Amino acid sequence: MSMYHNENEEHWSDHAICRGADPDLFFPIGYSAPVLKAQEDAAKAICANCPVKAECLSWALQVGEPDGVWGGTTPEERRYLRRTSDAPVRKPLPVIVVRGDASESEHASAA
Ligand code: SF4
Repeated sequence: MSMYHNENEEHWSDHAICRGADPDLFFPIGYSAPVLKAQEDAAKAICANCPVKAECLSWALQVGEPDGVWGGTTPEERRYLRRTSDAPVRKPLPVIVVRGDASESEHASAA
């Protein structure tokens, strides 16, 4: 993995524990769904112990990284995260309190 940054500055990717790991795990191209899932799970297991997992996920979400496992997430999971975090906050609907009963008020006015 390589990120663009000043050579003298420390970058979160300097602490990535996937450095040197099999790239096929992080960019799985499994020939069947179970193989693909096994590769993703193996990559996620590495991410789970990574000290820069949060920074990695944040970066991947920010740039819209379309491929590979980043920060312990698959592309599909990141798409879901982006969709849900971009969604506007829903306002609760106003509660309408109906006082009395129409039939009661009809009786009252008739009396
Ligand atoms: S979270 Fe995963 S993909 Fe990101 S740097 Fe760490 S090991 Fe690599």
